[in-house]
Amino acid sequence: MSQQETHGFQTEVKQLLHLMIHSLYSNKEIFLRELVSNAADAADKLRYEALTQDDLYEGDGELRVRISTDKEAGTMTIEDNGIGMTRDDVIEHLGTIAKSGTADFFKNLSGDESKDTQLIGQFGVGFYSSFIVADKVTVRTRAAGHSASEGVLWESAGEGDFTVETIEKASRGTVITLHLREEEKEFADDYRLRSIITKYSDHISVPVEMYKEGTPEQEGPDGPEGEKIPAVEGAWEPMNKATALWTRNKSDITDEEYQEFYKHISHDYSDPLKWSHNRVEGKQEYTSLLYLPAKAPFDMWNRDRKHGLKLFVQRVFVMDDAEQFMPSYLRFVQGLIDSNDLPLNVSREILQDNKVTTSLRTAVTKRVLGMLEKLAKNDAEKYQSFWGEFGQVLKEGPAEDFANKERVAALLRFASTEGKGSAETVSLTDYVSRMQEGQDKIYYIVADSYDAAANSPHLELLRKKGIEVLLMSERIDEWLVSHLTEFDGKKLHSVTRGDLELGSLEDENEKEAQEKLETESAPLIERVKTALGDKVSGVKVTTRLTDTPACVVAAEDDMSTQMMKMMQAAGQ
Ligand code: ADP
Ligand code: MG
Repeated sequence: MSQQETHGFQTEVKQLLHLMIHSLYSNKEIFLRELVSNAADAADKLRYEALTQDDLYEGDGELRVRISTDKEAGTMTIEDNGIGMTRDDVIEHLGTIAKSGTADFFKNLSGDESKDTQLIGQFGVGFYSSFIVADKVTVRTRAAGHSASEGVLWESAGEGDFTVETIEKASRGTVITLHLREEEKEFADDYRLRSIITKYSDHISVPVEMYKEGTPEQEGPDGPEGEKIPAVEGAWEPMNKATALWTRNKSDITDEEYQEFYKHISHDYSDPLKWSHNRVEGKQEYTSLLYLPAKAPFDMWNRDRKHGLKLFVQRVFVMDDAEQFMPSYLRFVQGLIDSNDLPLNVSREILQDNKVTTSLRTAVTKRVLGMLEKLAKNDAEKYQSFWGEFGQVLKEGPAEDFANKERVAALLRFASTEGKGSAETVSLTDYVSRMQEGQDKIYYIVADSYDAAANSPHLELLRKKGIEVLLMSERIDEWLVSHLTEFDGKKLHSVTRGDLELGSLEDENEKEAQEKLETESAPLIERVKTALGDKVSGVKVTTRLTDTPACVVAAEDDMSTQMMKMMQAAGQ
């Protein structure tokens, strides 16, 4: 009943395999990170399932990963006793890519190898990275809780297809054998392998073991009568500390370990920009380890994109992508939370409205805002690079998070008439510190593009008076200013609105001049009004323009011109 079947890989997998083999040649060893990472995930999943179903352990609760090589055969084997896979699991997980936005990702590849290489790093290649070094991969697996006769053999040369076959497999878990390509045989070298494995498994919480050969019985060199030294048997030795990284003391963890751990949980190949690791005791007890990525993921704007933290309860992994702990405008944050207050059998539904969740979310949000504030203060350059990647997401903050509105607002950056071109570098705090004497408003303009904003006739008078104006032109900006109406007690005021409300910045002479102009121009105004009819709600004389003869403005209680355009575009 072996039933060997041949299946074709999903198109995207074929593309991935091709691209990977041709573009990741300078970073081949990452396949070990991926396979060790998967084995550790499999152990995590089993531990979680076994909480309610103890017999899944089948009498073997010592979860571990073992790596061995066979120099003669030119193979490397990675074996775990984790959750394993059923035949259906194998066909699905080792034949398709489950990430949201995958098809789009492949559509957007440029064909330019160096650019695509960057992208593939962000995408993450997972199990398929085996084919970077192997020309044939064999997977033997059996799911926990299934009988020995339900084992599965998967095999592929990484081209168009793979085979699956039902086999006997007595032990639970997964064994992956890589048949190394001729030029990759060096990976079967024990010494080299040990150093790579140490690097990729230090932060992993299950033991990752390699076999240490014993010594044969031999004539002892020191014995007075040359007596035999007894043989020492070989043994499996752990290559890592095998304690969950976040439970260790901060001072004992190296930056490299933090970085590797980030890559393990985020599937991102770049180093993170910054991290924050905290243990909290007292009313709530939890540990959080939060990372700011250096680069936005390829699917940042995909609505179905999974995000959120990994949730552990008392060090047991419970779920990925627990989005309840992170507001949507901080969805770029990666990391984990390990709570002592939630029940081990917690589900997404229970998390939904749970007091512990709410208070953890509040605490974690504050932690991230604090991390960003610190970065902005101590390393403006890094903050600017963060802003370039995630600024447009953070702009959703004032609308979403009322309680932290002011803190989020202080983290925003804008282009301005006092800034450096179109780059968003000016904070509201900078703006306020430069306000003119008597100025009580923060002036801004939202337009379709930076150029349209910077060259708008609405700026003329303000420019003449040396008043700074924030220049906004991103899609999200209109949404932002409709929720962020005040900062530091100063109102945000659009320069395209009816009245600039310059207050005491308007001098007496100007007021007089305005009145005089109004009387003198009354007949002209009448004629323009008649000519335009009900196309406009009013025609006014203004002193706000210095070079341009006329401009269209929105009345104070109207939608701004930009909002109108948005509504029109949405078919309203
Ligand atoms: P990811 O780990 O991001 O999900 P991978 O390509 O690395 O992507 O793995 C795909 C899937 O294959 C995993 O999600 C898991 O379901 C399954 N898998 C891979 N390796 C193992 C393993 N050692 N044990 C059990 N399942 C595995
Ligand atoms: Mg993986």
